[in-house]
Amino acid sequence: MGKINLSKRLQEVTNFTVENKTIADIGSDHAYLPIYLIQHGMTNSAIAGEVVEGPYKHALETVEQYNLEEAVDVRFGDGLNVLHPNEDIGTIFICGMGGLLISEIIADGRGKDLLPKEARLVLQPNNNEKNLREYLIENSYDIIQESIVEDNRKIYEIIVAELSDDKPSYSEDALLFGPKLLEAKSPTFLDKWQKELTKNKNILNNLKNTENNEKIELLKNHINQIEKVIS
Ligand code: SAM
Repeated sequence: MGKINLSKRLQEVTNFTVENKTIADIGSDHAYLPIYLIQHGMTNSAIAGEVVEGPYKHALETVEQYNLEEAVDVRFGDGLNVLHPNEDIGTIFICGMGGLLISEIIADGRGKDLLPKEARLVLQPNNNEKNLREYLIENSYDIIQESIVEDNRKIYEIIVAELSDDKPSYSEDALLFGPKLLEAKSPTFLDKWQKELTKNKNILNNLKNTENNEKIELLKNHINQIEKVIS
């Protein structure tokens, strides 16, 4: 087997790997990410965790096809429960899931002391990015890097977090737009929020003839917040 190809989204995620340390990919349906990182010499030891039997079997099969059974340990289980206490892990990837599920997985692992304190979290939520940022800072994880990519006509945010000594504090704008994404205001970022603005204006137009004043007020505030940032 040759080198594995990753989607643009997963490729972007690899840029945040702590190299030469064990990585864990939680929700690793085909173990593509761990295989890629091993093949590119970014680590020589990986854990692929999966909680659903079909994807778990796919992960086992792919690892076998690439003859990487020694390097990629495919484990069946829920979230961070696949990790052993005190395992030395450099990066934990949790990608391609909802932001709320990602924060639940982190909270569960923390509660059971399964989240190594020094591990970097590389998170790619499919939605609820703001809630995930709120969860992270509430739990003393600082956002050290972020990225935004378009892949297959969808836009994805990547949040990289590490445990901090102080409790970080962010403005409402930083929580919604992402502190690093807000600083960079890349073309993909502006594209995402322009689309979000159009969508919200359409919703507002449809609501104008209703009595739903509370929702209208919330929407107007949201629209103002976006306009301030992208104009
Ligand atoms: N991480 C890959 C990616 O980004 O392309 C796969 C994304 S796929 C949409 C989500 C995967 O996470 C599924 O295979 C699902 O079974 C798995 N998953 C969902 N909840 C999980 C949990 N609590 N623990 C482990 N895996 C989970």
